[in-house]
Amino acid sequence: MTELRDLYQAVILDHNNNPRNFGKLTSANRHAKGVNPLCGDQVNVYFSLDDDAWVKEVGFEGRGCAICMASASIMTETVKHLSIVQADQYVTAFCSLAGGEKSEVTEGLDLSTLKVLAGVKAYPARIKCATLAWHTAHSALSKGGASVTTET
Ligand code: ZN
Repeated sequence: MTELRDLYQAVILDHNNNPRNFGKLTSANRHAKGVNPLCGDQVNVYFSLDDDAWVKEVGFEGRGCAICMASASIMTETVKHLSIVQADQYVTAFCSLAGGEKSEVTEGLDLSTLKVLAGVKAYPARIKCATLAWHTAHSALSKGGASVTTET
């Protein structure tokens, strides 16, 4: 598993240093905020959806650890230009992978980057850092933008 671990570190570094789609999206019509109090991660996720429920634009802003920021960046790249349904399938698939479970819906999904990011499961204390942005995206897309916290 050394190779996967190296790849994981490289992907986290790359996205943390050069976050994709970073910044508040002024055209957003969906938004949710997520917090992970255990680590101090905070992330705001913005979507601009068109009339047919496709993701036209997506953005995020926030502060947190490298894993949280990198994962948010990867999330935005993953769901951009997808339908809400497809985007949510990726969210579900990633959260399953990061939790060490088999994803139920994987047909037609490109999970290569997500499998690398799911290398976080080797560090159980950081899994919530990695899944925060994805849960937040799910809330923005499917649950009316309710705030998300990893602790209840
Ligand atoms: Zn964190």
